[in-house]
Parts: sequence; C-alpha cells; structure tokens
Amino acid sequence: MTKKNDLAYIDENLRIIRERCAEAKDRYRSSDDNIRIMAVTKTVAPEAINHAVELGIDLLGENRVQEYLSKADFYDKSAEVQFIGHLQTNKVKYIINSVSMIQSVDSLKLGQEISRLAVKNGRVMDILCEVNIGGEDSKSGIAPDGLDELMDGLSELEGIRIRGLMTIPPPSDSDIFLGRMKELYDKVSSERKGMDTLSMGMTHDYAEAIKYGSTLVRIGTGLFGARDYSK
Ligand SMILES: *Cc1c(COP(=O)(O)O)cnc(C)c1O
Repeated sequence: MTKKNDLAYIDENLRIIRERCAEAKDRYRSSDDNIRIMAVTKTVAPEAINHAVELGIDLLGENRVQEYLSKADFYDKSAEVQFIGHLQTNKVKYIINSVSMIQSVDSLKLGQEISRLAVKNGRVMDILCEVNIGGEDSKSGIAPDGLDELMDGLSELEGIRIRGLMTIPPPSDSDIFLGRMKELYDKVSSERKGMDTLSMGMTHDYAEAIKYGSTLVRIGTGLFGARDYSK
C-alpha cells in the first residue's frame, strides 16, 4: 500500500494548479465564470487518483477504455468521470453507463453509436466535439471547416446533447491556436443553444487556455507527475 506521505506531492501540485488557475481567472475572466479542473488519470494508480478526489477533485478524465475498465472498480465514486480519449465506435458500449460526458466526438458515425446506445439505455449523453485546431495528422478531431456540418448532423440525433468543444492544440504556437479555438467556440455558442463547455488546456498551457476562455482544464502530469508507461 502506498502511504499518505508518499502522495503528499499531489497536495502540493494541486495547490499550485489551483493558485495558477485562480490567478489566470482573476486576470482575464469574470468572477462568476466557472472553470473546472479535471484530473487526467492515464497510467495513474487508483490510490493516487482517490487521493486527488479526497483533496476536492470532482472530475476525472479517462483516455483509454481498457485501462479505465480495469481501474474503475477501485475509484472513489464521488467524482464524475468523463471520456477524453480517442474512442472507437465498437467500444462505446463499455462506457455508455459510467461516464457523464464524451469529449472526443469527431465523426457522425461515432455520434450515431453514442446516440443509439444512449437511447437504448434510457439516458442522454453529453458530448463535446473534438476539434483538430492545428490540422495535425497525428491528432484526432474534426477539422475546423468540417465542424458546422458535424454539429448539424449530431444535433439531429436523439439521446445526445452537444455542450461545446474540446481541443488539444499543437504544443508550439499554442497562443495562436488557443485564440482560434476561442473564436470558433464564440461563433458556435452564438449560433447554437446549450453551449457551455470549452475544454482546453493541459499541464503546459492551462493558464493560457483560461485566458482564451477555457471552462475546463485537463491536467495529468502537473498533478500526478510524469507518466510511467512501463507499469
Ligand atoms: C494526457 C491528456 C491530458 C493531460 O496531459 P498533461 O500534459 O499530462 O497534463 C489532457 N487531455 C488529453 C486528451 C490527454 O490525453
């Protein structure tokens, strides 16, 4: 068993993250804006995740279906879980009843499967459209110029509710891309009802992302330390 003392680095990391978020919010945003901090759990042991929940983290982000299923039983269930990783259509069935939002919807086909399973399970699934704002081949997400068509298609579907946009901008020139996301999100929110979430900002750019209107920052290494993929 990991001892509490061994997890004290999480207390300190979270303190710093909260402080920087508060500073960025004070500087760039209005006091009634709500900015959520998500703890991204990939490769992190349930003990460490639960420790973060004890410290007040109420939102967890999952990337991989398999890994999530193997850890979920050990989670403190008081935190909400959202899916943020690339999602294959044939895996939606494994998470449909345990996550509150799927942030990584980038095709109508994926949306249709979420819709089908949500209806079958008598629920409504909140979703975000993932935008590949940097046009990078290595990343998933819809290209900005395909977003309207995707959102039009998704909004016809039963059992899903589009709440906004998510992105992982290119690590360099992140200012430019965060700014473009803000423009895109502002446009989408002015044209469509129910938009309240712009999910952007990770360990290296969360303060910047808050400057550009993020409502949800997703933090992994900044909270839990460097990821160890060997485990
Ligand atoms: C891993 C991951 C994060 C967190 O990244 P860090 O740089 O470790 O904070 C955020 N969002 C997504 C989609 C991720 O896969």
